[in-house]
Amino acid sequence: MRSIFMVKKNYILLLLSILLLSACNKKVKKEEEPEVPEPVYAFGYNMDKYIVKNDTVKSGDTFGVIMDRHHLTVNEVYNIIESTKDTFDYKQLRLGKPYTVFCSKDSLEKAQVFVYQPSVRSYSIIDFKDSVTVARTIVKPLDTLRKTATGIITSSLFETLEEQNIDPYLAIKLSQVYEWSIDFYRIQKYDKFKVIYDEFFVDDTVSVGIGNIQASYFEHWGNPHYAFGYEIDSIHGNWQFYDEKAKEMKRMFLKSPIEFGRISSRYSMSRYVSIYGRRKPHLGTDFAAPVGTPIRSTANGVVTASAYRGGNGNYVKIKHNKTYSTQYLHMSKRAVKKGQYVKQGDIIGYIGMTGNTTGPHVCYRFWKNGRQVDALKHTPKDSEPMPQALKAGYLKYIEPVKMELDALPYPEIKEPEIEVTDPMTS
Ligand SMILES: [Zn+2]
Repeated sequence: MRSIFMVKKNYILLLLSILLLSACNKKVKKEEEPEVPEPVYAFGYNMDKYIVKNDTVKSGDTFGVIMDRHHLTVNEVYNIIESTKDTFDYKQLRLGKPYTVFCSKDSLEKAQVFVYQPSVRSYSIIDFKDSVTVARTIVKPLDTLRKTATGIITSSLFETLEEQNIDPYLAIKLSQVYEWSIDFYRIQKYDKFKVIYDEFFVDDTVSVGIGNIQASYFEHWGNPHYAFGYEIDSIHGNWQFYDEKAKEMKRMFLKSPIEFGRISSRYSMSRYVSIYGRRKPHLGTDFAAPVGTPIRSTANGVVTASAYRGGNGNYVKIKHNKTYSTQYLHMSKRAVKKGQYVKQGDIIGYIGMTGNTTGPHVCYRFWKNGRQVDALKHTPKDSEPMPQALKAGYLKYIEPVKMELDALPYPEIKEPEIEVTDPMTS
Protein backbone atom coordinates (compact mmCIF):
# COMPACT_ATOMS: atom_id res chain seq x y z
CA MET A 1 0.00 0.00 0.00
CA ARG A 2 2.76 2.36 0.96
CA SER A 3 4.66 1.94 -2.24
CA ILE A 4 1.57 2.56 -4.27
CA PHE A 5 0.96 5.70 -2.28
CA MET A 6 4.50 6.83 -2.95
CA VAL A 7 4.12 6.25 -6.64
CA LYS A 8 0.89 8.11 -6.59
CA LYS A 9 2.44 10.98 -4.69
CA ASN A 10 5.35 11.17 -7.07
CA TYR A 11 3.00 11.07 -9.97
CA ILE A 12 0.97 13.94 -8.58
CA LEU A 13 4.13 15.93 -8.01
CA LEU A 14 5.26 15.27 -11.52
CA LEU A 15 1.89 16.28 -12.86
CA LEU A 16 1.94 19.45 -10.80
CA SER A 17 5.39 20.40 -12.02
CA ILE A 18 4.37 19.86 -15.62
CA LEU A 19 1.31 21.99 -15.12
CA LEU A 20 3.36 24.71 -13.49
CA LEU A 21 5.95 24.52 -16.20
CA SER A 22 3.48 24.81 -18.97
CA ALA A 23 1.73 27.67 -17.21
CA CYS A 24 5.10 29.32 -16.85
CA ASN A 25 5.92 28.75 -20.49
CA LYS A 26 2.64 30.22 -21.54
CA LYS A 27 3.27 33.31 -19.51
CA VAL A 28 6.74 33.80 -20.92
CA LYS A 29 5.51 33.24 -24.45
CA LYS A 30 2.75 35.76 -24.00
CA GLU A 31 5.12 38.42 -22.82
CA GLU A 32 7.77 37.92 -25.44
CA GLU A 33 5.82 37.58 -28.66
CA PRO A 34 2.36 39.08 -29.11
CA GLU A 35 -0.32 36.75 -30.38
CA VAL A 36 -0.27 36.51 -34.15
CA PRO A 37 -3.71 37.26 -35.59
CA GLU A 38 -5.29 34.56 -37.73
CA PRO A 39 -4.40 35.17 -41.36
CA VAL A 40 -7.28 36.46 -43.46
CA TYR A 41 -7.82 34.73 -46.76
CA ALA A 42 -9.59 35.99 -49.84
CA PHE A 43 -10.27 33.51 -52.65
CA GLY A 44 -7.79 31.19 -50.91
CA TYR A 45 -4.93 33.74 -50.79
CA ASN A 46 -3.42 35.05 -47.57
CA MET A 47 -4.17 38.77 -47.72
CA ASP A 48 -1.13 39.62 -45.58
CA LYS A 49 1.19 38.39 -48.29
CA TYR A 50 -0.08 40.68 -51.03
CA ILE A 51 -1.20 44.19 -51.74
CA VAL A 52 -4.85 43.51 -52.50
CA LYS A 53 -6.66 45.83 -54.88
CA ASN A 54 -10.42 45.60 -55.44
CA ASP A 55 -12.04 47.36 -58.36
CA THR A 56 -14.73 47.00 -61.01
CA VAL A 57 -14.33 46.68 -64.77
CA LYS A 58 -14.45 50.19 -66.26
CA SER A 59 -15.21 51.30 -69.79
CA GLY A 60 -12.28 50.37 -72.03
CA ASP A 61 -10.88 47.83 -69.56
CA THR A 62 -9.55 44.56 -70.89
CA PHE A 63 -7.43 42.04 -69.05
CA GLY A 64 -4.38 43.57 -70.74
CA VAL A 65 -5.31 47.14 -69.77
CA ILE A 66 -5.91 46.14 -66.13
CA MET A 67 -2.64 44.20 -65.98
CA ASP A 68 -0.78 47.14 -67.53
CA ARG A 69 -2.01 49.27 -64.62
CA HIS A 70 -0.52 46.65 -62.31
CA HIS A 71 2.91 46.69 -63.93
CA LEU A 72 2.86 43.67 -66.20
CA THR A 73 4.57 43.94 -69.56
CA VAL A 74 2.76 43.33 -72.84
CA ASN A 75 4.82 40.19 -73.23
CA GLU A 76 3.87 38.87 -69.79
CA VAL A 77 0.17 39.53 -70.48
CA TYR A 78 0.48 37.77 -73.82
CA ASN A 79 2.03 34.69 -72.20
CA ILE A 80 -0.68 34.54 -69.51
CA ILE A 81 -3.47 34.74 -72.07
CA GLU A 82 -1.81 32.22 -74.39
CA SER A 83 -1.39 29.61 -71.67
CA THR A 84 -4.92 29.94 -70.21
CA LYS A 85 -7.14 30.94 -73.13
CA ASP A 86 -8.72 27.47 -73.18
CA THR A 87 -9.82 27.66 -69.54
CA PHE A 88 -10.70 31.36 -69.24
CA ASP A 89 -12.59 33.46 -71.75
CA TYR A 90 -10.82 36.82 -71.65
CA LYS A 91 -13.62 38.44 -73.65
CA GLN A 92 -16.13 37.81 -70.84
CA LEU A 93 -15.05 40.80 -68.71
CA ARG A 94 -18.19 42.93 -68.33
CA LEU A 95 -18.56 46.56 -67.38
CA GLY A 96 -19.20 47.05 -63.67
CA LYS A 97 -18.26 43.52 -62.59
CA PRO A 98 -15.88 43.33 -59.62
CA TYR A 99 -12.32 42.03 -59.79
CA THR A 100 -9.44 41.70 -57.36
CA VAL A 101 -5.73 41.92 -58.13
CA PHE A 102 -3.22 40.45 -55.70
CA CYS A 103 0.07 42.34 -56.15
CA SER A 104 3.53 41.60 -54.83
CA LYS A 105 4.27 43.22 -51.49
CA ASP A 106 7.42 44.98 -52.67
CA SER A 107 8.28 48.20 -54.43
CA LEU A 108 7.29 46.72 -57.81
CA GLU A 109 3.67 45.99 -56.75
CA LYS A 110 3.38 43.65 -59.66
CA ALA A 111 0.14 41.73 -60.28
CA GLN A 112 0.42 38.05 -59.32
CA VAL A 113 -3.16 36.82 -59.19
CA PHE A 114 -6.28 38.13 -60.93
CA VAL A 115 -9.75 37.20 -59.65
CA TYR A 116 -12.84 38.06 -61.69
CA GLN A 117 -16.37 37.79 -60.27
CA PRO A 118 -19.02 37.65 -62.99
CA SER A 119 -21.71 36.84 -60.40
CA VAL A 120 -22.14 36.39 -56.66
CA ARG A 121 -22.15 32.66 -57.29
CA SER A 122 -18.89 32.20 -59.12
CA TYR A 123 -15.43 33.62 -59.58
CA SER A 124 -12.46 32.87 -61.82
CA ILE A 125 -8.86 32.90 -60.64
CA ILE A 126 -5.89 33.46 -62.93
CA ASP A 127 -2.78 32.74 -60.93
CA PHE A 128 0.53 33.71 -62.55
CA LYS A 129 2.68 34.20 -59.44
CA ASP A 130 4.70 31.07 -60.28
CA SER A 131 6.28 29.95 -63.51
CA VAL A 132 3.13 28.04 -64.47
CA THR A 133 -0.03 30.07 -65.02
CA VAL A 134 -3.23 28.45 -63.76
CA ALA A 135 -6.80 29.54 -64.47
CA ARG A 136 -9.81 28.04 -62.75
CA THR A 137 -13.44 28.91 -62.09
CA ILE A 138 -15.07 28.23 -58.74
CA VAL A 139 -18.84 27.93 -58.39
CA LYS A 140 -19.97 28.47 -54.82
CA PRO A 141 -22.36 25.92 -53.31
CA LEU A 142 -25.99 26.95 -53.09
CA ASP A 143 -28.00 26.63 -49.89
CA THR A 144 -31.77 26.39 -50.08
CA LEU A 145 -33.68 27.98 -47.23
CA ARG A 146 -37.40 27.62 -46.63
CA LYS A 147 -38.85 31.11 -46.17
CA THR A 148 -42.27 32.58 -45.55
CA ALA A 149 -43.89 35.87 -46.52
CA THR A 150 -47.30 37.37 -45.86
CA GLY A 151 -48.91 40.64 -46.77
CA ILE A 152 -52.04 42.69 -47.09
CA ILE A 153 -52.02 44.55 -50.39
CA THR A 154 -52.71 48.26 -50.16
CA SER A 155 -50.91 49.36 -53.32
CA SER A 156 -49.55 46.56 -55.51
CA LEU A 157 -48.24 43.09 -54.85
CA PHE A 158 -44.77 44.23 -55.99
CA GLU A 159 -44.73 47.15 -53.57
CA THR A 160 -46.07 45.06 -50.71
CA LEU A 161 -43.16 42.64 -51.19
CA GLU A 162 -40.61 45.40 -51.70
CA GLU A 163 -41.68 47.13 -48.47
CA GLN A 164 -40.64 43.95 -46.67
CA ASN A 165 -37.37 43.62 -48.62
CA ILE A 166 -38.59 40.47 -50.35
CA ASP A 167 -37.44 39.80 -53.91
CA PRO A 168 -40.34 41.10 -56.07
CA TYR A 169 -39.73 38.12 -58.34
CA LEU A 170 -41.92 36.28 -55.83
CA ALA A 171 -44.85 38.30 -57.25
CA ILE A 172 -44.21 36.82 -60.69
CA LYS A 173 -43.98 33.33 -59.20
CA LEU A 174 -47.27 33.85 -57.37
CA SER A 175 -49.01 35.15 -60.48
CA GLN A 176 -47.86 32.00 -62.30
CA VAL A 177 -49.34 29.77 -59.59
CA TYR A 178 -52.70 31.56 -59.86
CA GLU A 179 -52.54 32.14 -63.62
CA TRP A 180 -55.87 30.38 -64.10
CA SER A 181 -57.78 31.50 -61.01
CA ILE A 182 -56.82 35.12 -60.27
CA ASP A 183 -56.36 38.02 -62.67
CA PHE A 184 -53.32 39.76 -61.23
CA TYR A 185 -54.14 42.93 -63.15
CA ARG A 186 -57.30 43.22 -61.06
CA ILE A 187 -55.96 42.66 -57.58
CA GLN A 188 -58.13 44.38 -54.97
CA LYS A 189 -57.05 46.56 -52.10
CA TYR A 190 -56.89 44.41 -48.95
CA ASP A 191 -56.34 41.20 -50.90
CA LYS A 192 -54.08 39.07 -48.71
CA PHE A 193 -51.42 36.48 -49.32
CA LYS A 194 -49.30 33.99 -47.45
CA VAL A 195 -46.54 32.07 -49.10
CA ILE A 196 -43.97 29.42 -48.19
CA TYR A 197 -41.14 29.37 -50.70
CA ASP A 198 -37.53 28.37 -51.27
CA GLU A 199 -34.80 30.94 -51.54
CA PHE A 200 -31.24 30.22 -52.68
CA PHE A 201 -28.24 31.62 -50.83
CA VAL A 202 -24.47 31.65 -51.26
CA ASP A 203 -22.08 32.38 -48.37
CA ASP A 204 -25.10 31.96 -46.03
CA THR A 205 -26.32 35.53 -46.47
CA VAL A 206 -26.28 36.52 -50.13
CA SER A 207 -29.60 35.73 -51.80
CA VAL A 208 -29.26 34.62 -55.38
CA GLY A 209 -32.90 34.08 -56.14
CA ILE A 210 -36.30 32.66 -55.37
CA GLY A 211 -36.84 28.95 -55.92
CA ASN A 212 -40.09 27.01 -55.96
CA ILE A 213 -43.18 28.18 -54.16
CA GLN A 214 -44.00 25.33 -51.78
CA ALA A 215 -47.45 26.51 -50.79
CA SER A 216 -49.50 29.67 -50.89
CA TYR A 217 -52.76 31.23 -49.85
CA PHE A 218 -54.30 34.13 -51.70
CA GLU A 219 -57.44 35.88 -50.55
CA HIS A 220 -59.02 37.68 -53.50
CA TRP A 221 -62.33 39.54 -53.03
CA GLY A 222 -62.56 37.67 -49.71
CA ASN A 223 -62.33 34.28 -51.43
CA PRO A 224 -59.60 31.88 -50.28
CA HIS A 225 -57.32 30.28 -52.89
CA TYR A 226 -54.94 27.65 -51.59
CA ALA A 227 -52.16 26.22 -53.74
CA PHE A 228 -49.70 23.46 -52.90
CA GLY A 229 -46.73 22.50 -55.05
CA TYR A 230 -46.48 18.77 -55.59
CA GLU A 231 -44.30 16.62 -57.79
CA ILE A 232 -46.53 14.16 -59.56
CA ASP A 233 -43.97 12.94 -62.07
CA SER A 234 -40.39 12.72 -60.86
CA ILE A 235 -39.13 11.40 -64.21
CA HIS A 236 -40.10 14.57 -66.07
CA GLY A 237 -39.79 16.74 -62.97
CA ASN A 238 -43.42 17.77 -63.24
CA TRP A 239 -44.03 20.13 -60.33
CA GLN A 240 -47.65 21.21 -60.34
CA PHE A 241 -49.93 23.22 -58.10
CA TYR A 242 -53.10 21.77 -56.68
CA ASP A 243 -55.70 23.24 -54.36
CA GLU A 244 -56.78 21.86 -50.99
CA LYS A 245 -59.11 19.40 -52.77
CA ALA A 246 -56.36 18.06 -55.07
CA LYS A 247 -57.72 19.95 -58.07
CA GLU A 248 -55.02 21.23 -60.36
CA MET A 249 -54.56 25.02 -60.44
CA LYS A 250 -53.50 24.92 -64.06
CA ARG A 251 -55.70 23.82 -66.92
CA MET A 252 -54.59 21.18 -69.36
CA PHE A 253 -54.26 23.66 -72.25
CA LEU A 254 -53.01 27.22 -72.48
CA LYS A 255 -55.44 29.51 -74.28
CA SER A 256 -52.83 30.59 -76.80
CA PRO A 257 -49.50 29.27 -78.11
CA ILE A 258 -48.03 32.79 -77.85
CA GLU A 259 -47.85 34.95 -74.75
CA PHE A 260 -48.88 38.21 -76.40
CA GLY A 261 -50.54 38.50 -79.75
CA ARG A 262 -53.92 38.51 -81.41
CA ILE A 263 -56.07 36.02 -83.28
CA SER A 264 -55.83 37.08 -86.92
CA SER A 265 -57.97 34.33 -88.44
CA ARG A 266 -60.35 31.84 -86.89
CA TYR A 267 -61.10 28.23 -87.74
CA SER A 268 -63.56 28.17 -90.62
CA MET A 269 -64.92 25.62 -93.06
CA SER A 270 -64.83 28.20 -95.89
CA ARG A 271 -62.33 31.01 -95.80
CA TYR A 272 -61.23 33.13 -98.73
CA VAL A 273 -57.53 32.54 -99.22
CA SER A 274 -55.92 35.26 -101.33
CA ILE A 275 -52.95 33.18 -102.45
CA TYR A 276 -55.31 30.53 -103.86
CA GLY A 277 -57.87 33.10 -105.04
CA ARG A 278 -60.73 30.91 -103.83
CA ARG A 279 -62.51 29.68 -100.73
CA LYS A 280 -60.82 26.92 -98.80
CA PRO A 281 -61.45 25.54 -95.32
CA HIS A 282 -59.13 26.96 -92.67
CA LEU A 283 -58.56 24.20 -90.15
CA GLY A 284 -56.61 26.24 -87.62
CA THR A 285 -56.62 29.38 -85.52
CA ASP A 286 -54.05 31.98 -86.59
CA PHE A 287 -52.21 33.99 -83.95
CA ALA A 288 -50.29 36.92 -85.43
CA ALA A 289 -47.07 38.16 -83.82
CA PRO A 290 -43.70 39.48 -85.02
CA VAL A 291 -41.20 37.05 -86.57
CA GLY A 292 -39.11 35.47 -83.82
CA THR A 293 -41.81 35.55 -81.12
CA PRO A 294 -41.56 32.32 -79.08
CA ILE A 295 -44.26 29.70 -79.67
CA ARG A 296 -45.22 27.66 -76.59
CA SER A 297 -46.58 24.16 -76.34
CA THR A 298 -50.11 24.64 -75.02
CA ALA A 299 -49.94 21.40 -72.99
CA ASN A 300 -47.57 18.67 -71.81
CA GLY A 301 -46.83 16.02 -74.41
CA VAL A 302 -44.45 14.26 -76.75
CA VAL A 303 -43.28 15.77 -80.05
CA THR A 304 -44.53 13.49 -82.84
CA ALA A 305 -43.27 15.66 -85.71
CA SER A 306 -40.75 18.46 -86.15
CA ALA A 307 -40.17 18.99 -89.85
CA TYR A 308 -40.47 21.18 -92.93
CA ARG A 309 -43.26 20.36 -95.37
CA GLY A 310 -44.78 22.33 -98.28
CA GLY A 311 -47.62 24.58 -97.19
CA ASN A 312 -46.98 23.93 -93.49
CA GLY A 313 -43.45 25.28 -93.67
CA ASN A 314 -41.56 24.54 -90.47
CA TYR A 315 -44.03 22.84 -88.16
CA VAL A 316 -44.20 20.91 -84.90
CA LYS A 317 -46.87 18.45 -83.80
CA ILE A 318 -47.32 17.35 -80.20
CA LYS A 319 -49.38 14.45 -78.84
CA HIS A 320 -50.83 15.25 -75.41
CA ASN A 321 -52.79 12.07 -74.74
CA LYS A 322 -54.80 9.53 -76.68
CA THR A 323 -57.44 12.16 -77.52
CA TYR A 324 -55.58 15.41 -78.16
CA SER A 325 -52.70 16.61 -80.33
CA THR A 326 -51.74 20.15 -81.32
CA GLN A 327 -49.82 21.38 -84.35
CA TYR A 328 -48.01 24.67 -84.98
CA LEU A 329 -47.26 25.86 -88.52
CA HIS A 330 -45.14 28.42 -90.43
CA MET A 331 -42.33 28.68 -87.85
CA SER A 332 -39.15 30.55 -88.71
CA LYS A 333 -37.24 28.08 -86.54
CA ARG A 334 -38.14 24.86 -84.72
CA ALA A 335 -36.80 24.39 -81.17
CA VAL A 336 -37.70 20.74 -80.45
CA LYS A 337 -36.97 17.33 -81.92
CA LYS A 338 -39.26 14.39 -82.67
CA GLY A 339 -39.64 12.15 -79.61
CA GLN A 340 -38.86 14.93 -77.14
CA TYR A 341 -41.07 15.45 -74.07
CA VAL A 342 -42.31 19.01 -73.63
CA LYS A 343 -44.11 20.70 -70.78
CA GLN A 344 -46.90 23.23 -71.06
CA GLY A 345 -45.36 26.61 -71.84
CA ASP A 346 -42.06 25.22 -73.18
CA ILE A 347 -40.77 27.05 -76.25
CA ILE A 348 -41.09 24.74 -79.26
CA GLY A 349 -40.29 27.21 -82.05
CA TYR A 350 -40.53 30.80 -83.24
CA ILE A 351 -43.05 32.76 -85.29
CA GLY A 352 -42.18 32.93 -88.96
CA MET A 353 -43.73 32.85 -92.39
CA THR A 354 -42.49 29.62 -93.93
CA GLY A 355 -44.90 27.65 -96.13
CA ASN A 356 -48.08 29.25 -97.47
CA THR A 357 -48.49 32.49 -95.53
CA THR A 358 -48.98 36.15 -96.27
CA GLY A 359 -47.72 37.43 -92.92
CA PRO A 360 -45.95 36.28 -89.76
CA HIS A 361 -48.23 34.12 -87.62
CA VAL A 362 -48.60 30.67 -86.14
CA CYS A 363 -51.41 28.52 -87.47
CA TYR A 364 -52.53 26.56 -84.42
CA ARG A 365 -54.18 23.25 -85.31
CA PHE A 366 -56.15 21.44 -82.64
CA TRP A 367 -56.55 17.70 -83.20
CA LYS A 368 -59.23 15.73 -81.34
CA ASN A 369 -59.48 11.99 -82.00
CA GLY A 370 -57.54 12.39 -85.26
CA ARG A 371 -59.66 15.26 -86.64
CA GLN A 372 -58.80 18.94 -86.83
CA VAL A 373 -61.38 20.88 -84.83
CA ASP A 374 -61.85 24.49 -83.70
CA ALA A 375 -59.46 25.09 -80.79
CA LEU A 376 -61.63 27.91 -79.47
CA LYS A 377 -64.61 25.56 -79.15
CA HIS A 378 -63.04 22.21 -78.34
CA THR A 379 -60.24 23.02 -75.89
CA PRO A 380 -61.26 21.30 -72.64
CA LYS A 381 -61.90 23.82 -69.87
CA ASP A 382 -61.35 21.39 -67.03
CA SER A 383 -58.06 20.92 -65.32
CA GLU A 384 -56.30 17.60 -65.46
CA PRO A 385 -57.34 15.54 -62.43
CA MET A 386 -54.63 14.30 -60.10
CA PRO A 387 -54.05 10.59 -60.65
CA GLN A 388 -56.15 8.73 -58.05
CA ALA A 389 -53.12 6.76 -56.88
CA LEU A 390 -51.44 9.99 -55.74
CA LYS A 391 -54.42 11.72 -54.16
CA ALA A 392 -54.28 10.14 -50.68
CA GLY A 393 -50.55 10.86 -50.39
CA TYR A 394 -51.08 14.43 -51.53
CA LEU A 395 -53.88 15.15 -49.05
CA LYS A 396 -51.75 13.74 -46.24
CA TYR A 397 -48.77 15.84 -47.36
CA ILE A 398 -50.68 19.14 -47.44
CA GLU A 399 -52.30 18.74 -44.01
CA PRO A 400 -49.37 20.12 -41.94
CA VAL A 401 -48.40 22.57 -44.70
CA LYS A 402 -51.89 24.07 -44.67
CA MET A 403 -51.73 24.36 -40.88
CA GLU A 404 -48.41 26.16 -41.21
CA LEU A 405 -49.90 28.56 -43.77
CA ASP A 406 -52.98 29.22 -41.65
CA ALA A 407 -50.82 30.01 -38.62
CA LEU A 408 -48.69 32.63 -40.41
CA PRO A 409 -49.60 36.10 -39.14
CA TYR A 410 -50.11 39.10 -41.41
CA PRO A 411 -47.95 42.17 -40.97
CA GLU A 412 -49.59 45.40 -39.90
CA ILE A 413 -50.95 47.42 -42.79
CA LYS A 414 -48.93 50.48 -43.64
CA GLU A 415 -51.57 52.92 -44.86
CA PRO A 416 -50.30 56.07 -46.53
CA GLU A 417 -50.55 58.90 -44.02
CA ILE A 418 -53.44 61.24 -44.64
CA GLU A 419 -52.88 64.82 -43.60
CA VAL A 420 -55.63 66.00 -41.32
CA THR A 421 -56.21 69.71 -41.53
CA ASP A 422 -57.35 71.38 -38.39
CA PRO A 423 -60.67 73.11 -39.09
CA MET A 424 -59.84 75.74 -36.47
CA THR A 425 -56.83 77.06 -38.37
CA SER A 426 -58.19 77.00 -41.89
ZN1 LIG B 1 -53.92 29.13 -90.31
